[in-house]
Amino acid sequence: MLIQIYYEQIYMEKELLLMLPGPVPIPERVRFAMSRQAINHRSPEFGAAYADCVRVLKTAFGTTNDLFVISGSGTAGMEAAIAGVGRDKEIACIVNGKFGERLYKISQRYGKAHEIKSDWGTPVNLEALKAQLETGAQIVTLVHNETSAGIKNPAEEIGKLCRKHDALFIMDGITSIGGDVVEADKWGVDIAITGSQKCFAAPAGLAMVSVSKRAWERVTRNPPYYLDLAAYKKSASGTPMETPYTPAVPLFLALRESCLMIEEEGLPVRIARHKKMSGAVQAAAKTWGLSLFPKTDKLHSCSSTVTAIEYPAGVRDDEMRGIIKKMGIVIAGGQDHLKGKIFRIGSMGAVSAPEILATLAATQHALTKCGFQRKGDGVEAAAEVLG
Ligand SMILES: *Cc1c(COP(=O)(O)O)cnc(C)c1O
Repeated sequence: MLIQIYYEQIYMEKELLLMLPGPVPIPERVRFAMSRQAINHRSPEFGAAYADCVRVLKTAFGTTNDLFVISGSGTAGMEAAIAGVGRDKEIACIVNGKFGERLYKISQRYGKAHEIKSDWGTPVNLEALKAQLETGAQIVTLVHNETSAGIKNPAEEIGKLCRKHDALFIMDGITSIGGDVVEADKWGVDIAITGSQKCFAAPAGLAMVSVSKRAWERVTRNPPYYLDLAAYKKSASGTPMETPYTPAVPLFLALRESCLMIEEEGLPVRIARHKKMSGAVQAAAKTWGLSLFPKTDKLHSCSSTVTAIEYPAGVRDDEMRGIIKKMGIVIAGGQDHLKGKIFRIGSMGAVSAPEILATLAATQHALTKCGFQRKGDGVEAAAEVLG
């Protein structure tokens, strides 16, 4: 009994390895950056930290546009964008997963939203988008990397269509920016958004938003108060750089450390690492004989920051993820109607071969325990990719 309690206590206190599509493990340096005495957010010291963040973020976004950090999770950035330019406008919302749906719901609050829907994890309907643009859509929303389904959408293609019809392009890059190639300026993205707890491997609670000149020309005259982009612009253009209201200072300090780590690693190296890690997960799934969930074509591909895998018949989600969690690792299930149908392994942030191999070994074991007869050794296949 005592031993049991002792064991459970150790287990409870043990850190779990979060292989989720956010939040993700936070490097020690980043955690340490937060544990210090409070600093004044209207000081050169804070301004320098904010400036460091913005410098690195601009490279990760592929933009020279204005860029701000908002205290609030990624969704705050989504709402700042839509509320900022979308009030009473015709908004075409591309939906092929949970987060596309969220952009649609936010758009419904502020403008006249039109859903351009395809099944989760299937290609976006470009023909329907064209039709919507021809009938006067002024804004298009897209999730670049649809986390709920593990599919990467053709942002560049959609950017071209937006330009052709002079529509603003709002892109949720929350699980691509910092982990995959994003060229906001080249693709014609007017407002791009990301969040701190995904590819940046920082704590949750910050949203980062870039705003183009075209978007500034079309901002609404009645913006929300806390999420007013113009207020962020005004405060950020002073010396020192500031935010309009008291920011989550410890999170900014943590994000700065994450950004410095990105600079040290080098963005292209970081992006290649994400591709390799997700490639190892994909190789394991295929070798087991499991299907990847996204239905891709030449414009769409599997995400390189989160891999969505279909459950084989008979394997129960709660049972499988329960076995994996007992080994100290947390992976994600499906959301909404995909609950029990898919599982998702995040490979974003700071993770590399040790975390991926441990996760795949635990998953392989759990699949077997749940009665699945695998075709081949997925861990071996992944090691082949990583070695
Ligand atoms: C996580 C996520 C969000 C939401 O971010 P929160 O930080 O939970 O508000 C939005 N879009 C995508 C694609 C995401 O993965």
